[in-house]
Amino acid sequence: MDDWCVLGVDLGSTTAKAVVVGSDGRMLSSAVVQMGAVSRKGVEVAIDRALADAGIARDRIVRTISTGYGRKLVPGADRTFTEITCHARGAVALAPGVRLVIDIGGQDSKAIAIGTDGLVDRFAINDRCASGTGRFFDVLSRALEVEVTDVADLALASNRDVEVSGMCATFAETEVISLLAQGEEPSDIAASVHRSVAGRTLGLVAQVGKAAPVVMTGGVAQNHAFVAELARMLGLEVTVLDDPQIAGALGAALIARDDHLGALAEGAHLADSAAEASWDTAKAAPAPHCADCDGHPEFHATGPVHIELALARPGRADR
Ligand code: ADP
Repeated sequence: MDDWCVLGVDLGSTTAKAVVVGSDGRMLSSAVVQMGAVSRKGVEVAIDRALADAGIARDRIVRTISTGYGRKLVPGADRTFTEITCHARGAVALAPGVRLVIDIGGQDSKAIAIGTDGLVDRFAINDRCASGTGRFFDVLSRALEVEVTDVADLALASNRDVEVSGMCATFAETEVISLLAQGEEPSDIAASVHRSVAGRTLGLVAQVGKAAPVVMTGGVAQNHAFVAELARMLGLEVTVLDDPQIAGALGAALIARDDHLGALAEGAHLADSAAEASWDTAKAAPAPHCADCDGHPEFHATGPVHIELALARPGRADR
């Protein structure tokens, strides 16, 4: 029977994403659910929504692979893969030939170098300093009392450079409020935060090496002012996928399909586990001293780590 489907689930720090892919490798549906915090409920809603959109019953799902910060909490997952592998796989499927994937979510940011074979070559992650992640934009939007979806347009309206001294997300709320009290324009403050996050992303890219074409995934890719600033700083065009938030879940679903077809190379899981282990090692390293931060904290990333991911050659996901 050929009417089977597979499911990819990405349980992130702020959103749960689910993607259904058919036996022919086509994406049938996707769902993104905003959560207050990592929650099993959020992931169930995302899965139900994606299944309903695809018009398929749960018993047609033959394989589920989960990824994301909360990947081990996803009910019914047959296997877990890191976001490194899954974002790379999703991005390569949607943008064949991509050589650098920049994924910025709510809690971490990653630069993933892709080889000419479409497999992960090296990666670097920042999951220590919130100033390089979507969290900084969330804090900014709260302090400026605007939606996070509106900070991009606000930043683009800026006509003056404001130096936000520490540029530390932890203290940003207080600092933004104090700048507002000094009469600084919200748009100038917003632009400053965009420049800061883009600068930090540049530091991450430097660890794996600049390469083109560049694709951006994750929620922050929806911030057009940020993408423009990053492209300007990189001196490269940055392509944003149609629905950048679902790249990881799509990659997970495509890996689930390979797995079901027996096309997942023997070492694929081992290679991903090695990536996970090196990330865990980095996490176990002493935390940066935020109190001593001069606004330019070192990235506590895992990279560059050269990992050959022996995944089956990624196919193209027809949408
Ligand atoms: P995670 O996988 O960790 O949950 P996401 O990839 O879903 O993270 O990204 C979440 C982040 O993306 C949020 O913290 C927010 O800053 C940013 N974001 C989400 N949607 C938008 C949008 N429409 N415009 C700008 N930024 C957005």
